[in-house]
Amino acid sequence: MNKTKILIVGAGFSGAVVAEQLAKTNQFEIHVFDERNHIAGNCYTERDKETNIMVHKYGPHIFHTSNREVWEYVNSFIKFQPFVNRVKAVYRGEVYSLPINLHTINQFFRKSMSPNEARAFIESQGEKSIGEPQNFEEQALKFVGKNLYKAFFYGYTKKQWGTEPKNLPASILKRLPIRFNYDDNYYNDLYQGIPEEGYTEIIRKMLEHPNISVILNSKFTLNPKDLDTYSHIFYTGPIDEFFNYKYGRLSYRTVYFKRYVSDGDFQGNAVINYTEENIPFTRIHEHKHFTPWETHNKTVYFEEYSKETEPNDIPYYPKRLETDLQILEKYQKEVNSLQKITFLGRLATYRYLDMHHVIEEALNIAKKFLEKSNIS
Ligand code: UDP
Repeated sequence: MNKTKILIVGAGFSGAVVAEQLAKTNQFEIHVFDERNHIAGNCYTERDKETNIMVHKYGPHIFHTSNREVWEYVNSFIKFQPFVNRVKAVYRGEVYSLPINLHTINQFFRKSMSPNEARAFIESQGEKSIGEPQNFEEQALKFVGKNLYKAFFYGYTKKQWGTEPKNLPASILKRLPIRFNYDDNYYNDLYQGIPEEGYTEIIRKMLEHPNISVILNSKFTLNPKDLDTYSHIFYTGPIDEFFNYKYGRLSYRTVYFKRYVSDGDFQGNAVINYTEENIPFTRIHEHKHFTPWETHNKTVYFEEYSKETEPNDIPYYPKRLETDLQILEKYQKEVNSLQKITFLGRLATYRYLDMHHVIEEALNIAKKFLEKSNIS
């Protein structure tokens, strides 16, 4: 029996999950294209040649989710080791605990408040005149007040996004919890961990099926013939690139890293944020702390710098400014008229998505596609 041909553009989590879900029905022949020379997109991990430490090449990725189905799904490919992300912040020569929790508050204000006292105190710090926060700055001023905002959010956010926080949506700050206890877990999710042999290995296993061929170093541009050859296309690349930027470019921040190697332990933690505006990098990640079950004498760490994305840079964080959203709407109208192409993932939908969101959405899209194709 001839299998139905499917084209998938992008070998990151979105593309790999759809490929894996379709491949196992044995009804499809799947071609996955990626312009890079490796699979796994920005989740790519590899062993550092000099130190043998597992490095997250495009920046730290800590897997966390409250969705049991997603957790069990990723665990079906690889063993996850328990890992809790406990981020520290350096501000004016002092080390604090993130996300802002009772320890941070007490240390910062030189007090020893109880949870209830701290809650009342922080409420009293909040800017009362702000109703529904319209941007990042208002959100922060309303909920933590000027002092904590200036110390932990203003400088970091300005460096990270390259603009005044009042130009950014409040939703970015809503990613971070504020706690009135000593819980310093950066995430609120039920499940958290790091894959023992890295993320590349999960994606390699997803794509390992005989019905899947992976073609690397191959930049995709839609050829009208593709719509005859393939019964459906799943596109996970940048949405504006797909349409050749005809309505303009969507803006992203990109990051780059300066790599250092030394003996021993450089900072004693996986991630330390530098929240002052005048320190040029946003954070330092030291990757051996992401695999505490391994032993390494040397260490490799990276200063992370953020900048505007230029044409040849890798897009990381969608900025989603008002002008971007207007452009996005135009592209989305065109997407809706393309029956044979599904756009999914961070770049194709221009959203700030974590790995677990991407996987959840890709599983749902694959499920719907199979239902529509009468395959269960
Ligand atoms: N943020 C901040 N100070 C910090 C950490 C984060 O102001 O020490 C802000 C910053 O604007 C960032 C946002 O909170 O973009 C979300 O942070 P998160 O750690 O979720 O960012 P990501 O993991 O996506 O880099």
